[in-house]
Order: sequence, then structure tokens, then C-alpha cells
Amino acid sequence: MGARGLADSYGGYRTQLVNELQAKGIRDLAVLKAVAHVPRHLFVPESVRHRAYQDAALPIGAGQTISQPWVQARSLELARLTGRERVLEVGTGSGYQTALLAECADQVFSVERIPALSQAARNVLQQLGYRNLSLMTGDGTLGWRPYAPYDAIIVAAASPEIPKPLVEQLSPGGRLILPLGTRDSQTMVLVTRDPNGDGTRVEPVSDVRFVPLIGQFGFAGGASS
Ligand code: SAH
Repeated sequence: MGARGLADSYGGYRTQLVNELQAKGIRDLAVLKAVAHVPRHLFVPESVRHRAYQDAALPIGAGQTISQPWVQARSLELARLTGRERVLEVGTGSGYQTALLAECADQVFSVERIPALSQAARNVLQQLGYRNLSLMTGDGTLGWRPYAPYDAIIVAAASPEIPKPLVEQLSPGGRLILPLGTRDSQTMVLVTRDPNGDGTRVEPVSDVRFVPLIGQFGFAGGASS
């Protein structure tokens, strides 16, 4: 996949981040390998590049943030990817998690509501050579129906409810990971669609803080920041 053979001077920092994530309980080797491989510093503005390999959220412009690596690694782990899945991401943002997903799954579809962020993410992801992902600008609470169903859906912004279209677009046995709660505090939940029916199981995972999911099945709109 992409980002192969990319020689850069940040490899040591990436290894440190991988060690830190392992120490914080991340076990999925494919996820750790992806973190070791994807150059996170290329997805953040130059002003915060020196902090790119800290386990912290960072501003990416338009009032949005690239999530904390631990949160992203945990979401990926919960998605239980083997490399064969079709995955939907809601909230492309910087495109960093899109790259991690592209390393761990077969096909990645990612929706972002702010056109400038989607375009910037597209540039970096193209530069890194990823060919197994598609980006779209729009309201990701509606999913991306033409390519459904998805084996896993990761929502990178906080929602007051579980968007119904996303549950509908999960394949049987599929996993939906999203931060659920108010604008200020949320719990990351794992929603698993029943393998033989329409039911779902919802399990809380951890307390998190994300920017709001703004859309028809998320929070009401307003400014794009
Ligand atoms: N995974 C991203 C995190 C970005 S923050 C990264 O690695 O950088 C969450 C993103 O969700 C923001 O860019 C925000 O604009 C976007 N977002 C919020 N509501 C959305 C919606 N309804 N559809 C698509 N994207 C949305």
C-alpha cells in the first residue's frame, strides 16, 4: 500500500510512539505496524510538527483536531481489521486515520464535511501513494450508501445519537465505533450489528473528548468550526 520506503528522519519518534501505545495497552500488531509506518508529521500543520509524535490531539485548522493517537489506535483495534475489510470513516480531518485504515483494511471510504480539510488530506494521501481509499466531501452522518455495507465504520467526531444510516450500512457482524454524548464529554462506544439479524449490541469503551459531529443525524449545524 502507500507510504512504502519513505525515508525520513522521524522514524525514531514513530518507534517511541509505538512503544508508548503498547505501554498504554494497544495489542493489535497490524495497528502498531501502521502507526510505525505512517508519517503523522505530514498530516499536521508545520507549526505543530515538532509535536507530531506525542500522544496528543493537535489542531489541524478550521477549528478541528487530529485525534490523540491512542484514541485512534484503540478505535482501529476495536474494528478488528484483518486486511480484507471495507471500511467507512466519518470525519477525514487530516487524513491520518484514513492512512492507518488504508494500512489495515482492504478498501477505505472517508467522508469529511469541510472541503478544505478533505482537499488537504487528499493531497497528502496521494503524495504517500495510497490507492485503496476514496474521499468525499459531505455529511457523513448519512454514510456513503453506494459502497455499503461496511465491515467497520469509524466515526471521528462526537454524536448525540447513533446515526441510523450508519447502522443500516453495517454488514452483519459489522462494528461501528463512535464517541457518543454531549458536545463536551463523550463515551466511545462499540456498536456491533448482530450476525443474523437486525439487532445491535452497544458496549461502552472509554471516556473521550472529540469535536462535534455536525449533520442530519449528529449535532445541529452552524459555523463550520
Ligand atoms: N480522523 C481525523 C480526526 C478529525 S476531527 C484525523 O485523523 O485527523 C473530526 C472531523 O470530523 C473534523 O474534520 C470535522 O470537520 C469532521 N466532521 C464533523 N461532522 C462531520 C460530518 N457530519 N460528516 C463528515 N465529517 C464531519
